[in-house]
Amino acid sequence: MNLSDYESVAGRDAVDEIRLIASRLRGWRVVHVNSTAVGGGVAEILSRMVPLMKEVGIDARWEVMRGTDDFFAVTKSMHNALQGKNLPLTEEMRRVYEEAQEANRSTLNLEGDIVIIHDPQPAGLLTAVTRGKARWVWRCHIDLSHPDAAYWDFLRDRVSSYDGTIFSSPKFARETGVRTFVIPPSIDPLSDKNRELEPSVVRQVLEDHGIDPTRPVITQVSRFDLFKDPFGVIEAWKKVKEDFPCQLVLAGGSADDDPEGASVLAGLREAAAEDKDIHVLCLPPTANLEINALQRGSTIILQKSTKEGFGLTVSEALWKGKPVIAGAVGGITIQIKHKLTGMLVNSVDGAAYYLKYLLSRPEEAAALGRNGREHVRQNFLLTRHLRDYLVLVALVRSGRSGLVTVEA
Ligand code: UDP
Repeated sequence: MNLSDYESVAGRDAVDEIRLIASRLRGWRVVHVNSTAVGGGVAEILSRMVPLMKEVGIDARWEVMRGTDDFFAVTKSMHNALQGKNLPLTEEMRRVYEEAQEANRSTLNLEGDIVIIHDPQPAGLLTAVTRGKARWVWRCHIDLSHPDAAYWDFLRDRVSSYDGTIFSSPKFARETGVRTFVIPPSIDPLSDKNRELEPSVVRQVLEDHGIDPTRPVITQVSRFDLFKDPFGVIEAWKKVKEDFPCQLVLAGGSADDDPEGASVLAGLREAAAEDKDIHVLCLPPTANLEINALQRGSTIILQKSTKEGFGLTVSEALWKGKPVIAGAVGGITIQIKHKLTGMLVNSVDGAAYYLKYLLSRPEEAAALGRNGREHVRQNFLLTRHLRDYLVLVALVRSGRSGLVTVEA
């Protein structure tokens, strides 16, 4: 996929703007560092972002840090504690974290003009020696608004030496004493997850899963996680189905390596066993085309989260022109403007109310979908994300302010 392919979806101007900004940055060395090559939204975005940066003349590279199981256990606690859980941070955990940074400092190639460090795992790589003449930016993909104090102190000690920080939303940001930029995530409109599909493909995927394409379908796509409130989704659907016969699809990933996910999935299967119109689908991580088809084949998409980071599934559904009903939490509220690009809810009753409302008003539902798609086109596509990164690179490298559209 080339940048010019994105003209058809993002518009010629968006692509021209990228080329214009990039023409001033030709040959600059930009290194992205994260902790996984596959799986998760960060790897998904980098796998598209880095080739596009190269295509427009940036000397972009992607380095993946390595770590032991112990290290990833520490960074998992870190991930949870930074998003509000109360967890211990022992001397041993600090040591394991530091050891991994030290080991990676000598094995990773961190040579560049700008080094962009993604998330807390590699945040400790910066020292006077690794910095050299480069500028370092810490890119945070999680919600730091209510962190555990000890974990936040630990992270802030490292991040406060950077030349800038990036958050996905002003709501997630924290003061670190360095320049703060806001860059929301994005979806790739040309990926298997989001590209246009033939109606026959959509119908086939529904039928393969025992879903009747001729009756309304309500769908939530999510990991089997209680914060996504899948049981609340079932409750809401039960309040609706007597008046509006419809099917419910709860599609999520394999939960084999996650004991909590497995028990949530088992509970959902038990709840679904009572009713043949509830479809709980456990799909492999490669099922991008299937997720795409399930979203496209749905009448309404739910994302009834009670806690959420950005919530990529919301943009994915809006991009497909679907009416979306979602929890008024986290990054969902920058994607859904209530009654304009979707419906925001705070309870099961709220979700049931708007399900009935939209099922009985298809034209209004279609208008929400149209607005939602345009909102995503303007704000949450990969092209906007690339443009923001280029502007950030220019700003950080020059140390000047000027183009401040991405600054908080
Ligand atoms: N996803 C998927 N298969 C699943 C469940 C989720 O491919 O079974 C994808 C979903 O389409 C989205 C991402 O995983 O692209 C989830 O991102 P989101 O920000 O919505 O939630 P998170 O899982 O990061 O909390």
